[in-house]
Amino acid sequence: MPHHEASPLARWSREHWVLAGLCASLGVLVITIVPGFANAMRGQDARGDRTTLSLPLPPLAGKAAAAMAGSAWQVVQVQSGQTLGAVFEQMGVPASVMHQVLELPSAKTLSRLRAGAEIAFDLGQAGELRGLRFERDEASRVELQLADGKVKEKIIERPLERRVMVASGEITSSLYAAGAKAGLSNAAINQMANAFSYDIDFTQDLRDGDHFQVVYEELWRDGERLRSGGVVAASFVNRGKEYTALRYTQNGKDEYFDLAGRPLKKSFMRMPIEFARISSRFNPKRKHPVLGTVRAHKGVDYAAGTGTPIMAAGEARVSFVGWQNGYGRTVVLDHGRGYTTLYGHMSRFGSYKTGQRVAQGAVIGFVGMTGLASGPHLHYEFRVNGVHRDPLTVTMPKPEPLTGTALALFRAATAPAMAQLKRAEGVRLAAR
Ligand SMILES: [Zn+2]
Repeated sequence: MPHHEASPLARWSREHWVLAGLCASLGVLVITIVPGFANAMRGQDARGDRTTLSLPLPPLAGKAAAAMAGSAWQVVQVQSGQTLGAVFEQMGVPASVMHQVLELPSAKTLSRLRAGAEIAFDLGQAGELRGLRFERDEASRVELQLADGKVKEKIIERPLERRVMVASGEITSSLYAAGAKAGLSNAAINQMANAFSYDIDFTQDLRDGDHFQVVYEELWRDGERLRSGGVVAASFVNRGKEYTALRYTQNGKDEYFDLAGRPLKKSFMRMPIEFARISSRFNPKRKHPVLGTVRAHKGVDYAAGTGTPIMAAGEARVSFVGWQNGYGRTVVLDHGRGYTTLYGHMSRFGSYKTGQRVAQGAVIGFVGMTGLASGPHLHYEFRVNGVHRDPLTVTMPKPEPLTGTALALFRAATAPAMAQLKRAEGVRLAAR
């Protein structure tokens, strides 16, 4: 009866579109990554040859640079599957010298270098190794000097600088166009879109004139932009309604909260599975497809291929993992406050045991047809205080806001970002 189905469909379409939006974001990410792969592939064509690139490591200042005048630094990029031995051999450096270098504690990184990492060799007239430079980590570099059979090592700290940036924009065609125009990286645009994705449907709800302010971080090193440090705070006005996201770290986890200190993410996902279609709805008087008898269908069935991941609809404690009559391999989660969810017919379980805590979205099992099932699907039940409710229409509880000391800490921690958002709004208005 389509008339009765229209309403629940409309209700879950939001989540559906959020997924579509995320897929679209992934699409954009892939597009931006491809040129990088292309370069890597070109690099691999040269495998085995001596690859000499211009020196991208920033030049050393002052005395060190002067001392190195006349030296011939050559940078080698480690190719995929290439061993360190092969790199040294390629540069004509004897294995005995390599082993001497590897004995240094700072050279540990060298033996763990990944494809794409760069090592700079300073070779003398006779091809002897005089120096070696490589990145130890994001914030330091090792420089070795070899002379008279001895190795001297120097660690050069390269402090990371966290720059806080502010951007604002107005939607005229798409979120990505507006974000790019405001100077945001795709990563920052995605992060902002994800933070608001529970409240704004970016594929459906955007209107010309919607506008945003973003406070974000960039990591810089040696005067060069290294990478995006993420969105610290953002406000988005969609069809005249303002939404605010403030990043706050709790228990080592970054999350976005609204102005009142309530998490932006919902306490339950409407669908605990992606890329599935509803094959049977919640129905108190349904004829059972296998037994043929009239029995209540106390959940929603999602048809999906065997092996499709099933996610925890919300943060929970696992209260049951095992076999239940009819439901086959079943997981039951206790979300507290009287909410429980059940996932049946699994082909196999995830790695969670009874009593363990799971995060929202964690994979707790995989679609199958164990128990009484006519085909692979997830049977999903949502219970409030023990009473079965239709997961597609039940009013989901709002996540608990921060209170007391936690709220005070949140307010103090997010005050600077709030002030920056306000300033950005002022600048945007002044520029109109
Ligand atoms: Zn079912």
